[in-house]
Amino acid sequence: MKIAVIGAGAMGCLYGGKLSALPENQVFLLDVWKEHMDAVNEKGLQMEEDGQVLTYNGLKGCTSASEAGPADLAVIFVKSTLTEQAVRGNKEVFGPDTLALTLQNGLGNIDILKKEIGESNVIGGTTAHGATMLGPGKMRHAGKGKTIIGELDGRESERIKAVAALLEKAGLETEISGNVLGLVWDKLLVNVGINALTAITGLHNGELLEHPETERLLEKAVEEGAAVAAAKGVALGFADPVAHTKDVCRATAANKSSMLQDILNRRQTEIDMINGAIVREGAALGVQTPVNETLSQLIRFLQKEKK
Ligand code: NAD
Repeated sequence: MKIAVIGAGAMGCLYGGKLSALPENQVFLLDVWKEHMDAVNEKGLQMEEDGQVLTYNGLKGCTSASEAGPADLAVIFVKSTLTEQAVRGNKEVFGPDTLALTLQNGLGNIDILKKEIGESNVIGGTTAHGATMLGPGKMRHAGKGKTIIGELDGRESERIKAVAALLEKAGLETEISGNVLGLVWDKLLVNVGINALTAITGLHNGELLEHPETERLLEKAVEEGAAVAAAKGVALGFADPVAHTKDVCRATAANKSSMLQDILNRRQTEIDMINGAIVREGAALGVQTPVNETLSQLIRFLQKEKK
C-alpha cells in the first residue's frame, strides 16, 4: 500500500516508521522541516523505543507532495491548527480514491478533511500512543496505547477493516469504533481538562489532582465541555467524563502534557482546537463556557509572550 504521512513530527514518524517496516508498504513522510526530511533520507528514521534505538530505512522523506503523488492512504499528523493549510499544501497526495485518516487531537480536523477532499474519503479516530521529537530524523516512542478508528457513518466497512488490519500488522494495536465523533469528543474532553491547566501552571498531569484549586478548574472545564457535547447531541463513550479525565491524570501522572511542552519550547499550541473549540461550539449553542474562555485567553497570552 502507498501511504503518505502529512506532518512527520513525533506521531507521524511513529506511525510512518512502523508502517514502513512491512515490505508491502511504501511510505512517504511529508513535512515542511527540510533538515528533518534530509536526515530521514540520509540516515533513516531513528526511533527510541523501550530503551533501544530502531532504524527505519524504508521511508522517503519529502518536502513537496509532488515527490510522493497520489497515495492509497494519507495519514494526517500536523498539529490541528495547521490541518487546513497542510491538506491544501499537499493536494497532490489526494487522488480520487485516497483514503484520509486523522488521529489528531482537537476538534475540527474531520470537518476540514470533509471540506477539502470530500466526505466519502475520510475516516477518523484517536490514538493513545505518546511520542516526542528528539531532533532531525530522531524521535522517541514514549508511551504505548490503542488506536481506535472508524467510518464517519459508523459502518464496519471493508476498507476500515483493511486499515485496522494494516495498523495491527505494523504492531499498532487497533480497534474499530462505530462512534468516531464520540471518540474524538472523549479525547477532546480529556485534553480540555489537562492541557491548558498544566501549560499555565507548569504542573505534571498527576499534580493537577494534588491541589484543590487546579482539580476544581479541571472539573469545571470538563463539565462545560460535556454540556456542549450534550447540546450538540454527541454520544460520549464515558458516562462521567470528569472521572475519566482524572483517571487519565493518574495513569499519566509523570507526563508533561503536549501543551505544556509547546509553551516551554516556545511553540504555538493547539488551544484554538481544544478549549477554544469548546468556547466556539458553546457560543453557537447557547452554552456558557467561562472557564474554557479564561483558560484559552491565558494560553493565548502565554503564546504571545513566548513567540
Ligand atoms: P509535532 O509538532 O511533533 O509534528 C507535527 C509536524 O507537522 C512537524 O514536524 C511540522 O514541521 C509538520 N508540519 C507543519 N506544517 C506542515 C505542513 N503544512 N505540511 C507538512 N508538515 C507540516 O506534533 P505531534 O506531537 O506529532 O502531534 C501531531 C498531532 O497528534 C496533534 O494533533 C497532537 O495533539 C496529536 N497527538 C500527539 C501525541 C504525542 O504524544 N505527541 C499523542 C496523541 C495525539
